[in-house]
Amino acid sequence: MELFLILFTSGLSAAIVGRWKGSSALLWFLIGFCLPLIGIVVAFLYRFERDESRRECEGCGRILPLTNQVCFSCGEDLSFPEQTLAPR
Ligand SMILES: [Zn+2]
Repeated sequence: MELFLILFTSGLSAAIVGRWKGSSALLWFLIGFCLPLIGIVVAFLYRFERDESRRECEGCGRILPLTNQVCFSCGEDLSFPEQTLAPR
């Protein structure tokens, strides 16, 4: 029971840090739960997704993070754009 409490607290801490950085809280909860302490450290070192450059999809015109390889809206396979948009 105590182990579960430690794992849950670790997962919750990683989720809070991950959410603060603009990433998925559920994903970071699972990372923190499976890797106690390491998960929290990794979450702190992870990039801020809000600071990432963005791009416009050539297929549908949707604004996407620069790191996306495929548009999740229309399925267009994206090559590296000639010009990027500033972060939000
Ligand atoms: Zn698209």
